[in-house]
Amino acid sequence: MVQIERSFPAPKSLAEEMEKANGSYSKPDVIERLKKDFHGKCYICGMKGLQDPQVEHLLPHKNGRYKDRKFDWENLFWSCGHCNNVKNQEAYDTGILDCCKRNPEEAIIFELRGQNVLVKEVDSGDREAVLAAQLVTEVFNIRNTGMRVYKSDMRFKMLQREMNVLYKKLEAYKKEPDSKILNRTLKALLRKESAFAGFKRYYVRMHLKEYPQLAEYIA
Ligand SMILES: [Zn+2]
Repeated sequence: MVQIERSFPAPKSLAEEMEKANGSYSKPDVIERLKKDFHGKCYICGMKGLQDPQVEHLLPHKNGRYKDRKFDWENLFWSCGHCNNVKNQEAYDTGILDCCKRNPEEAIIFELRGQNVLVKEVDSGDREAVLAAQLVTEVFNIRNTGMRVYKSDMRFKMLQREMNVLYKKLEAYKKEPDSKILNRTLKALLRKESAFAGFKRYYVRMHLKEYPQLAEYIA
C-alpha cells in the first residue's frame, strides 16, 4: 500500500447515477479514472495488471443503505476481487487507513521476512493503520477456502518474485553504483506505481546505509 493521489473533480456519472433508483457507481468514466489514479494496481495487495478489477468501497455501503457512501468519489477504490472479498468483513467496516488521505508508508511497515509477510502498524493506537495492516496481512495469508489458499499463495509468490528481482538488482548495484541501466531499473522498481511498491520501498528504506544514493528513489 502506498499513497495515491486521487484526481478531482469526481467523474460526472456519480452525481447523475446517485439520483436514480438503481444507479451504478461503476460507469466507464469512474472505471477509467480509478484505473488511472491507482496505476492499475490493487491498493490493498499491490498487484498490477488485474484481470478482475473491482470498485471497492472504503466504507461499505451495505447494499445501498448508505447511498452517500455508494456514490462518494472519495470512497471508491481500485482493488482486485480477492482483496475486495477479504475486506468484506465487519472488522473492517469502521474504515481502514485511507491511502488517498494519509501516507501508509508513514503509518505501516511492509516487510517480507523469509516466508512471512510482516505488515504492522507503527503506532498500536492508530486504529486505521492497525486495520489496514491486518487486512494486508490477511490477503497474503487467508486460507479458509480452497480458492483463497490459491489466491493468497499466488499473491505471495508474485511478491516474492518481485522482491527477488529487487535483491538481485541491489546486489549488482553495490558493485556498480554508477551504472545508468541499474539506476534506471532501480528507480522503476521503487516507483510508487510499481507492483508491491510498499514492500520494496520499505526494504530499501531499512537498508539505506548500504545504498544512501537510493534515498531519492523512495522519497
Ligand atoms: Zn488485491
